[in-house]
Amino acid sequence: MKKLDNIMYRGQAYEVKLISYPGKTNQIIFRDNKFNVYINNKLQGGRATQEAAQHLKSWMTERAEEVIKKRTHEYSNLIDVSYNTIRIKDTKTRWGSCSSKGNLNFNFRILMAPEQVMDYIIVHELCHLKHMNHSKEFWNTVAQYMPQYEKQKEWLKVNGMKLYTI
Ligand SMILES: [Zn+2]
Repeated sequence: MKKLDNIMYRGQAYEVKLISYPGKTNQIIFRDNKFNVYINNKLQGGRATQEAAQHLKSWMTERAEEVIKKRTHEYSNLIDVSYNTIRIKDTKTRWGSCSSKGNLNFNFRILMAPEQVMDYIIVHELCHLKHMNHSKEFWNTVAQYMPQYEKQKEWLKVNGMKLYTI
């Protein structure tokens, strides 16, 4: 198990502080620019870290549900497309996907990236509702709503793996 002393959230790295306590429920409190993760004191060492990672993942997924759904809704109005469902997932390789039925999937880790990178992924998937491919027309549509998308793509290429700490 890797060390978990910091975590990316909306493009910034924050300290993760494990707090061993006698309570039974694990809690996460984001305070003073720190993720304070309360872990039952019966869990020690690697097991505590593992538990903390699990809880940070749930915390991040819950917030991703809120933020990504809201943002997708806003962008779908702007781009003038309608989608069917949105699912937030723990995917190993993909940031997002779009099916021919209009079902959108997003990796919860895009909430850990800078906001514009998250927006790019949302715009990218929504533009697939107009062009189900990566044709020139598709990229032109993406550029229409996100002129600097090349920058966000590059960020993902260079930094994407840094989001896989949990
Ligand atoms: Zn695509």
